[in-house]
Amino acid sequence: MSEPYRREYEYYCPKCGDCHFITYKDNQECVICGYKMLETPHEYNLTTSEFENNTQTFYQNEQRLFDEIISKLLKFDINLYNNRDNILKQREQQYDINQAILESKRPPIIECPYCHSTDTKKISALSKIGDAMLLGFFSPKIYKQWHCDNCGSDF
Ligand SMILES: [Zn+2]
Ligand SMILES: [Zn+2]
Repeated sequence: MSEPYRREYEYYCPKCGDCHFITYKDNQECVICGYKMLETPHEYNLTTSEFENNTQTFYQNEQRLFDEIISKLLKFDINLYNNRDNILKQREQQYDINQAILESKRPPIIECPYCHSTDTKKISALSKIGDAMLLGFFSPKIYKQWHCDNCGSDF
């Protein structure tokens, strides 16, 4: 028995032509275009052991697979194939941008002016509206921004 999640054969994407070993889960989608990856035909012998033992033959077989199979598929998109590096790079840049946005949205640490605890939270707009409706008038809380979980005061 082989290890449960280790694939012996390389997988390829029929749409963008990207090839790589998938070792983690079934029905893996292509990291470039999201199309479902397929196991390479066994006659090309694109196996992990081939890769480790005879890398040159491995790459020759990969080229052969591309020339004989992938490039002839109707779904194959030559533009996607040629842009694979750019697409990956753009995705990484987008990821960095998203991380930076997340970082900037992180709430600042606010100190309670009464007890100087930093165990504070922002009073949400919803809870302010809730208070106003409940009391039938605008409670003083509506003008307060922060609540101290330590001493219970709003400020
Ligand atoms: Zn793809
Ligand atoms: Zn406090």
